[in-house]
Amino acid sequence: MEQVVIVGTGCAGLTAAIYTGRANLTPLVLEGRQPGGQLTTTTEVENFPGFPEGIDGSELIMKMHAQAERFGARFQYGTVEEFEQKNGINRIKVDGQWIETKALIIASGASARWLGIDREKELVGHGLTSCATCDGAFYRNVPVCVVGGGDSACEEAGFLTRFASKVYLIHRRDSLRASKIMADRVLANPKIEPIWNTGIEEYLTDENGEMRGVKLKDLKSGTTSKLEVKCVFVAIGHTPNTTPFLGKLDTDEEGYLTPRHGTEMNLPGVFAAGDVADREYRQAITAAGMGCAAAISAERWLAGLE
Ligand code: NAP
Repeated sequence: MEQVVIVGTGCAGLTAAIYTGRANLTPLVLEGRQPGGQLTTTTEVENFPGFPEGIDGSELIMKMHAQAERFGARFQYGTVEEFEQKNGINRIKVDGQWIETKALIIASGASARWLGIDREKELVGHGLTSCATCDGAFYRNVPVCVVGGGDSACEEAGFLTRFASKVYLIHRRDSLRASKIMADRVLANPKIEPIWNTGIEEYLTDENGEMRGVKLKDLKSGTTSKLEVKCVFVAIGHTPNTTPFLGKLDTDEEGYLTPRHGTEMNLPGVFAAGDVADREYRQAITAAGMGCAAAISAERWLAGLE
């Protein structure tokens, strides 16, 4: 029986691990499909307090990981498949094996959304991606496009100008949702060309099955056209990673966990932190703050059991 299991190793999960580790609870921390979470797919983090020059996202995560290990956190790779609470004990099935724990902190984050176009899954890795940081450097001196109009799309577009000959920013409306500073930066960049009121209708591939372009549809006039690009970067938001918890824990209509008080979920001993329970702020620092709050609540709850 574990005292506390933490699901996820993004900012929220690792902060919860640091706090529960320092409370001598030797937390078991589960690293899922994307160890380190979304920060590992960003470049420079400029707004995490304490780093006036900015810090690389992966480096920040590695430092948090080391800090959690220093205080006794144990890490295990594995994906949660099922969750249940029986006789007040939380049980999670991880890669076929049940783990029992008194307290459970869910910090499983959110995953990138895709457009839902034909052949999307098979094209990932062949000119279709959701991570400029991971794949941008493969597309030097060729045209690429980014889909979306939020901060992620703007960040990806700006990053890609380091490599690509041209970056098209395809957005379904005629104004960006991104924060003003990010939007202004993108619109002032001569290497980025926005294509407004437009959606992608089809991915076009060459004889080797690699991306060679997209079929665009002007959403106002209905006219279609072709655009030659070697890679499509999809940046249209995220879906919370809550599948094993649906129907058992409170969620909103999009599946985000909805704690009742602070980070406390509807079942005793279950806490939620980070992007999995936050569709409003979704920042590294707010996730870290929620991870801290969840750890302190879990610690108090465990003390109450004794
Ligand atoms: P977001 O703000 O939800 O923006 C998603 C964008 O994708 C929107 O422009 C949306 O269009 C578009 N979109 C959604 N579904 C679409 C579809 N099916 N087809 C075409 N376009 C679609 O998501 P995000 O950009 O990932 O940002 C999420 C949060 O993280 C935000 O709070 C953001 O501030 C934060 N963030 C911050 C930073 C930073 O500060 N460095 C970097 C990245 C993200 P509409 O505009 O028409 O809805």
